[in-house]
Amino acid sequence: MSDRSRPASLTRRELLTSAAAGAGALMLDPLAARAQAPQPDAVVFSHTTVITHDGQVDDVALAVAGGRIAAIGPTDEVLKAHPRAEVYDGRGKALLPGLINCHSHMGAVIARGFNEDFGFPNTYRLAVQPGSLLSREENVLMVQVAALECIRTGTTTVVQFGGGIAGHAGALADSGLRCVFAEGLADVENPAGPVSAERLATSEAPRFSAKLRDEALQRATDLFSAWHGARDGRISVFPSPSLAENASPELLRAVRAFAEKHDLHYTIHLNQSRWEVDYMRRHHGLDPTEFLAKHDFLGPRLFAAHCRYVTPNEIALLGASRTIVTHQAAMAGNRGANPPIPALRDAGCPIAHGTDNNTQDMVSTMRFALIMERIARGDDEVPGLLPQPEDVLEDATMGSARAVNQAGQIGSLEVGKKADLLVLDTQRAHLVPAGRILSAWIHNGGPADIESVMVDGRFLMRDHTVLSMDEAALIREADAVGKRVWGEVLKATPVKVPRVTRR
Ligand SMILES: [Zn+2]
Repeated sequence: MSDRSRPASLTRRELLTSAAAGAGALMLDPLAARAQAPQPDAVVFSHTTVITHDGQVDDVALAVAGGRIAAIGPTDEVLKAHPRAEVYDGRGKALLPGLINCHSHMGAVIARGFNEDFGFPNTYRLAVQPGSLLSREENVLMVQVAALECIRTGTTTVVQFGGGIAGHAGALADSGLRCVFAEGLADVENPAGPVSAERLATSEAPRFSAKLRDEALQRATDLFSAWHGARDGRISVFPSPSLAENASPELLRAVRAFAEKHDLHYTIHLNQSRWEVDYMRRHHGLDPTEFLAKHDFLGPRLFAAHCRYVTPNEIALLGASRTIVTHQAAMAGNRGANPPIPALRDAGCPIAHGTDNNTQDMVSTMRFALIMERIARGDDEVPGLLPQPEDVLEDATMGSARAVNQAGQIGSLEVGKKADLLVLDTQRAHLVPAGRILSAWIHNGGPADIESVMVDGRFLMRDHTVLSMDEAALIREADAVGKRVWGEVLKATPVKVPRVTRR
């Protein structure tokens, strides 16, 4: 029995009570009341710009009906065909496909403003980890704040990757986002990963446990039974091994068999640190990708996260198997690593995008991806020519839609596809004038330019107001929890920040 049938208000009330939010928060916020307001059955965005998979189309209308894109064409014709639709004045706006985040650990927002700055795995030795000071309800609160950030930054689909998703699945589904629950699995008794320098030095060969494997697979099967296909198909469940270091060959084969049986995709962290590579060589005698290849885990159902330190042989294996690579460009940049995206593309790997820890901002991710790939291609005949903004948008939409096995339904603004989109206000000082609005936005814009976001034809944000969540209360509660947690963490370990120069 899942909690998907529970009304959203119950989950919300439980959370407010347990998060010690204060008596005031129990009063229904006006935004929450608005969130329950009926949504229009059909909407026509009139006289607007639409960014399609072919490029930019100006002064057209896009009609949404029954949760899908019903028409794109001249405004008078579209309005005539949808006479009862609500009209959204699209002048000065641009419609883009919603962004698809293929790799997020949403609860990890508790460590933002810290975790970005000390390498991977985080080398700062805190005596107390901030996540360990959160109650179950406060963990849910972190995921909800992350969901809010998704909506505000134009993300319409998010892959939540981690263990114990059942604990916040209901809250995440209630956000209105399209979600993939990638339940993270491991079956190692002496977990090494994610491997750090210290863990590598003291590591021993992994010991795998059939009992742990059975328990992990049962947990994933339960989540799948409860949630896959829920909310009119808005929720998917992809059981996935967390790390190459922590997965046995038997677990890899079981995940793949489950995915094939139910036509799912699956993910894993791969080549995310040098320590992981050294650990796999030491204990398996193989590079991480070679280990996955040996146990039949590569292929077009896999979207492998990171691939930062892959060798030429690993690139060839990934490409030949048509494995999808999900690229967390902003996080890779933070880690001082630039995965060989040009070589992975050339080998045949489709590229998708994700954010990883700390943030859900896919707009920044696209800009990082563009700049870092241009740097990686520095010896091209014309440095700075590739990739183009159109390429990184393609990766963050259609590429990511392929990764989550929904390329036929989402990822582009095409008639018949689900109405997952964002509305950009182009009338901003940093966007006007613009030769190409997409180029201007990727290079100079930001999430604040997004005024509305729609999933399944339903507005989650309209005119900069989030409709599906009680934004003010959530931020107030999360701020209070964060201040308490970080107060305790910094009391236990005062943080001394290293600097490039100190004069
Ligand atoms: Zn990750």
